[in-house]
Amino acid sequence: MSEAEATDITRFRTETRAWLEANCPAAMRRPMTSEDDICWGGRHWTFASDAQRQWLERMAQRGWTVPSWPREYGGGGLSFDEAKVLAQEMRTMGCRPPLNSFGIWMLGPALLKFGSEAQKREHLPKIARGEIRWCQGYSEPNAGSDLASLQTRAEDRGDHFIVNGQKIWTSYADKADWIFCLVRTDSAAKKHTGVSFVLFDMATPGVTTKPILLISGKSPFCETFFDDVRVEKSNLIGKAGGGWDIAKYLLTHEREMIGSIGDRAVAKPLGQVAAGLVGLDAEGRLADPLLRAQIAEFAVDEAAFRLTMERFGELAKVGQANPAFSSALKYYGAELNKRRHELMMAAGGSDALEWDSERSNHGAAARTWLRTKGNSIEGGTSEVQLNVIAKRILELPGA
Ligand SMILES: Cc1cc2nc3c(=O)[nH]c(=O)nc-3n(C[C@H](O)[C@H](O)[C@H](O)COP(=O)(O)OP(=O)(O)OC[C@H]3O[C@@H](n4cnc5c(N)ncnc54)[C@H](O)[C@@H]3O)c2cc1C
Repeated sequence: MSEAEATDITRFRTETRAWLEANCPAAMRRPMTSEDDICWGGRHWTFASDAQRQWLERMAQRGWTVPSWPREYGGGGLSFDEAKVLAQEMRTMGCRPPLNSFGIWMLGPALLKFGSEAQKREHLPKIARGEIRWCQGYSEPNAGSDLASLQTRAEDRGDHFIVNGQKIWTSYADKADWIFCLVRTDSAAKKHTGVSFVLFDMATPGVTTKPILLISGKSPFCETFFDDVRVEKSNLIGKAGGGWDIAKYLLTHEREMIGSIGDRAVAKPLGQVAAGLVGLDAEGRLADPLLRAQIAEFAVDEAAFRLTMERFGELAKVGQANPAFSSALKYYGAELNKRRHELMMAAGGSDALEWDSERSNHGAAARTWLRTKGNSIEGGTSEVQLNVIAKRILELPGA
């Protein structure tokens, strides 16, 4: 970075800090205590508080829900270094992300790369403002790790497709407004080449969802059924039969997003949580020496992982990142997040297993701990990520 660039970044940091100080409501700077503190946006969203609404509106107006997207699509137009400064300042001040969104994490990057100008102008600003909530229609009962075996059909009817089939594990399908969906447009073609990537409104006649109840007592995902659903051709991204490349590109973003799940949580540091639960010894250290050692080891691994994510970001900035590295980030980030919650439960002891009491915030800790078990499955399982790492990064011979 040149001296002039460094001065600009220093000025940007000062201005950003002042803006956040003035605009981030105090309630949005407190650690999240449960998944209910997350803002997902969308047509049917009910804000948990005025502070949550204000925070989203202020950030969206500045384009900072998607800081590095171009301004014409609702983004902040920030450079890589500016976006990094914004993230650092938000972390230092404990600001919550204003919006969690599959549109931001997954569909947006894919649209920016593969969408037509009209598609970008139609969908990206609504994602940036949190107006439309998206879900992901990839997995099917017989197509998970082997995603290219998907069977949902889209029949060509001239200016539109008619879609029939079933998806499964569709996160928040019952709450989402639109879906980005993989469909088979050519059954005669090889399985990777007959796939297309389409978008449609979940309110279209013929779309139904059935929530699946989980061990945590919640139903964060659904079976999703399509019966003669009409999808306009203007909602086909890229070419018919060219959906596989888009699907893979989107998956690299999904994997990076899952990898950084712990980083986004804006929770209290583990050591502080444990201190509150276990207490301190005469020297001011965590009273339980075994747990203390495990938390220290975790903190070192977490710091190393954050630096690895930064290194990946720097390499991506200059076009030198191996896209398969998103699998390494996904694999390790998922393991770290599971470890974080195991340690949280260990610190809480049997009290942490409380399920329904007010005192336990209706079992928030236990429910979140159980939810993390899915981290090594969603977005592609850990075994599949290890296969990708072996093949595409380590270049080991296939079995
Ligand atoms: C919390 C959560 C949220 C999800 N959200 C969504 C969503 O919003 N949209 C969506 O489309 N999907 C979603 N999924 C589905 C997810 O993508 C699939 O569960 C995942 O890809 C695995 O597919 P599967 O469940 O069919 O398991 P399978 O593919 O049947 O795998 C079963 C087991 O076999 C192993 N295995 C399979 N193939 C190989 C191989 N080649 N080498 C080694 N081991 C292998 C797997 O690792 C796994 O242990 C979600 C899943 C979870 C848990």
